[in-house]
Parts: sequence; C-alpha cells; structure tokens
Amino acid sequence: MGTILLIIVGIVVGITILSMVVSGIKEFLSKAFSIVGRFPALFVLLIAGLFYFDRMWIPVVIYCVLYALKTKEVAEKEIENQALNRIGTMGLISKQEALGLLPGFSPLPWLTDAMYEKEHGSKVLDKEIEKGNLVLRNYNGTEFYCNEARWKDVQAEILNKTINTISEHINSWGFIAEDIRFNVIKEQYGYDTAVLVKVLTKKIFTQYMDKMLSGGRVFVEETEKERRTIKLYINKDVLSAKQQYIRGCDIIEKDDLAKIFGTNDVGEQKGIMNAITSHIWTGISYVFLDGIDDKRNYIWLNEATIKDHTCAKCKKIVRKLTQYGKEQYCASCLQEIHAQEDADEAEGKAVKRYISAPPPGVKIKM
Ligand SMILES: [Zn+2]
Repeated sequence: MGTILLIIVGIVVGITILSMVVSGIKEFLSKAFSIVGRFPALFVLLIAGLFYFDRMWIPVVIYCVLYALKTKEVAEKEIENQALNRIGTMGLISKQEALGLLPGFSPLPWLTDAMYEKEHGSKVLDKEIEKGNLVLRNYNGTEFYCNEARWKDVQAEILNKTINTISEHINSWGFIAEDIRFNVIKEQYGYDTAVLVKVLTKKIFTQYMDKMLSGGRVFVEETEKERRTIKLYINKDVLSAKQQYIRGCDIIEKDDLAKIFGTNDVGEQKGIMNAITSHIWTGISYVFLDGIDDKRNYIWLNEATIKDHTCAKCKKIVRKLTQYGKEQYCASCLQEIHAQEDADEAEGKAVKRYISAPPPGVKIKM
C-alpha cells in the first residue's frame, strides 16, 4: 500500500516538474523567437556568418552590434512617426509632449531604452523648424511646434464641431450649461494639447453664446451646481415645446426632467424648473422637496396640491397618501394606526375600522 502511494506521489510530482520544464521551455522559445524574429534578415546573416567564420564569436558579436543599432533605428523612427503624425493630424504638439514621446513595444525594452536618443521627438521637430516646415508658437505660456497651415484648418474644425455641439444640445434639450465639456479631439493627444483645445472651445462657446444672447435666441438662468453658480443658456421656444410634458402635474419627478431635458444634475434641473415657472407658466408654482421617500430622491410638488400630499397625522409631505376614514395618511402613520387598532382590539376595546381603503390583512367586520 505504502509503495503504491509513493509511486502515485512520484508520478504527480514528476508530471508537475515536467510540465513546468515544458512551459519554461515554451516561454523561452517564444521569447527567443520574438527577439530573433524582430529582425529576420539579421538572423539570416548570423546563420550565414556561422558557416563562413571559423571562430563562432565573430559573427555572434557582429550580430549583437547590428541588432542593437537596428533597435536604435527602429525606436527613433517610431518616435519620429509619432511626432510627425501629431503635426499632421492636430497641426501642433507641445515641446513637453514631443520630449516625452516614447518608442513602441519591443521584446527587449532595456535594450531599446539603452539605445534610442533621448528627447528624439523634440530633436526631429527642431530639424523641421530649421527646414522651415514648422514654427514655435507660444499659447497660454506653453510652447508648441506648429504647422501653421494645418493648425489653422484644425482650429476651423474645432470651431465647427463646437458650434454644432452647442446647437444640437440646445435643439434637443432646450438649454446648455456653461460648464459643458466638448469632445472635439481624441484623448490620446496629450495634456498640453487638450488644455489648449479646452481654452479654445471655451472661447468659442463664450463668443457664440454672447451672440445668441444679444440676438435674443437664448436667455440666461443662473443656478447652483456643485456649490458654484453657473449659467444655463435657455432657448425659450424649445423650452415651451418641452414644458407641456410636465405642465399641470402634481408631482414632477427628477427622472421626468432627465428624460425631457437630458440632464440628471439637480442644479441644472432646478435652473430649468425656475426658468419654466418664471418665464412660461403663470399662476403655478412648485416647491422643491429633497429627501422624499428616500434620502437621494427629490421632487417638485405643485404648491396648490400640497394639502393632498400632507399626512394628517405627522404632517409630512409624501408622494402618495392613503385615504382612511375622513383623513389621508402616509404609509408609516397608517401602519401605526392599524397597529394601535390591533392592540386595542386585543384588549377587548371597541374598534371602529374603516373599509374605505382597507390595507392588506385588515379584517373587515360584517
Ligand atoms: Zn404620516
């Protein structure tokens, strides 16, 4: 019995070791293939050299030197391409971003690191300046390598995209908040470029909205958002068309406003409600109620209907009251009332139950 157990343990250990060795070899081979396969022509030369030279170390050393030089060349080419690509697409790249450009993936990162010229991106672009293809421009304190013609086109694109975004937003939702974020460039374009574009879109936004404002196409409603006062630019026509969905409702829910006006932000919703009640509706006013039902929920309640939503017992305002007898109660008060009735009944007191709205479990006396 003991021997059999030993044999089984031996087999299991053996298989484990073998599989580790095999996977180790596999990993080693795949790594070796990816290193050698990066420059196959060099490898062919190495094989030829091994046949040609009597001393094996000579072709091996030559191979290693050529491999390192090739690695340098490829890494620098990759950086150069990135730098020129950015100029081609955006028309500019900041000096900082150019300095920070890195080569792509390599199977021997330490070799790439050791070989490529640092700050190569910036050096490539400096040469382009010497050739007269680029100029250095300073925007908001940041230096950019800039192809003026391309950058001019890109700015025109940004202008178009920004204005389209504004128009679409106003046409579909009736308003636009001044802190809107514009996605007019790809995120991978680096921090400095993103900041520059943000400043640009902000400027376009302000100028465009001022024009809309002076042309009477929008009006401003200020509102508190995340503890800051911000402006909402509101189009009265769109707002008028949209307000009919909530007009006359007892309760206006935040989800309704989100659906109609495309925003979940409580500050923006408050601004919109203020705009509607002060510019469009007359004689109707709403109160904002926070923490209704649960802590995160809020509603607007038509002031004229407050009494229909006020519990007769605890005086709290709730979404839905239940009629019981002559009065209307909130769910928790109603539960208390029934508990009291049950207790009184148990003591043998006469209890007057109402059947107008029997809650579940109420025994109706016939
Ligand atoms: Zn109550």
